[in-house]
Amino acid sequence: MTTVRNIAFGYSTTCNIKCGHCVAAEDTTHHAKMDIQHAEAIIEEMAGCNVTGISFSAGEPLIFFSDICKLVRRCHENGIYSRVVTNCFRAKTPEHSDNTVSELKQNGLSQLRISYSRWHQAHVHRNNIVNAAASCQKYGLDYFISFITDFSKEDDAFEQFLRDNNLKFFPEPLIYSGRAETFTRPDIFTDYQPNTCAMNPYLSPELDMFACCDAGMHFTKTGFFHLGNLKDHSIDALFEKKEKNTLYNFIRTMGLTTIASFLGFKARDIVKFRKCELCEKLFNSPENLAALKQSESELAYWKR
Ligand code: SF4
Ligand code: SF4
Repeated sequence: MTTVRNIAFGYSTTCNIKCGHCVAAEDTTHHAKMDIQHAEAIIEEMAGCNVTGISFSAGEPLIFFSDICKLVRRCHENGIYSRVVTNCFRAKTPEHSDNTVSELKQNGLSQLRISYSRWHQAHVHRNNIVNAAASCQKYGLDYFISFITDFSKEDDAFEQFLRDNNLKFFPEPLIYSGRAETFTRPDIFTDYQPNTCAMNPYLSPELDMFACCDAGMHFTKTGFFHLGNLKDHSIDALFEKKEKNTLYNFIRTMGLTTIASFLGFKARDIVKFRKCELCEKLFNSPENLAALKQSESELAYWKR
């Protein structure tokens, strides 16, 4: 069986704004960045071990515009699908936006993912989003808007703005991690969803690779999702480690809900958790993690 290998590529954690909810950044002045030649070599190595999709994320990638163009070109030359995640600070006017999008397109970018939320838009004018989407349509670059929301009424006007402008958008639940860790969490009740997770891996500028590119990077009590550092391992070895990990595979296929139930969580408690919160309860707890590791073979039989 061929395993699909995609990765979120953290070229730099530097960002030009400071969103109140940012999961990618802690409150620190430390901003790491890869060396460009090394980043290009990493992409070549990824191409050699069947990585077929790279998403440039972390901080704001387009701060390093010419570097990102070089990296996108590398992806294109190696047949790798590339995506850039941006807050659209470079789309202040239609002209600025056209210049940025056309150059990314010329370098072979596959898709632009536009971040949008009430936290982003405290720093970036929402017209930038409209400009960027219009440029993508003009130059034939696929795009979508990732509308991060906590599903509160406060976000209604933000959603309406997207509808009023006929923009392609997908709501994404706010992740209560990083700067959003201390946010008040409104109660939720799900209908006992399986809570499977695709688990996209992430490579940091310090060359640490994680099996999860979101909240899981902050599971510091167990380091459950940390795969290793490229200074000590090849990319292929770290991907293999991810692919062979039994508990990661259970997260992908069985889902967190079944794992939590197996471990003894009450059904009526499980339905109150958001996905990443449930994941944290299970895998950022040394006790729960040890119990799960000990009973992996029994867990494998805990299925319908
Ligand atoms: S959410 Fe994105 S745009 Fe906002 S501070 Fe974090 S990296 Fe920057
Ligand atoms: S559910 Fe777990 S693995 Fe999936 S994104 Fe959240 S923290 Fe990461």
